[in-house]
Amino acid sequence: MPKPNPDTKPWAATRRGLAAELGQIDGVLPGSVIRRHMRCGKPGCACKADPPALHGPYIQWTRSVEGKTVTRFLTEDELASYQSWFDNARRLKELVAKFEIASVHALEADRRHPRTTDSKASARRSKRPADS
Ligand SMILES: [Zn+2]
Repeated sequence: MPKPNPDTKPWAATRRGLAAELGQIDGVLPGSVIRRHMRCGKPGCACKADPPALHGPYIQWTRSVEGKTVTRFLTEDELASYQSWFDNARRLKELVAKFEIASVHALEADRRHPRTTDSKASARRSKRPADS
């Protein structure tokens, strides 16, 4: 029996297209970026006046590292250089989700392998009580 070739599986063109899009991603940065104005700790500073003259805006990058929130400030130049990598995080999630759907469809549509009925599994499913 010949070794299965990935391209002979269903949805090959879709999966190739997604793989090509994934291959163009050259960086991914996690977390979120916001611009914010802040108060400092200096007594009598204008940022504590009424109305306050807050400092900033500062570009604040927040991400989670081993369960802890880590914050770093970015310069305008850094953000301009790396904005696309922040955008890529969302793009990557979308592409992976599409890749999973296309791959599940490929397996389900694959007629080379005869489907066997798992009667035990379907029996378990039908016995499961309904959500109340
Ligand atoms: Zn201040």
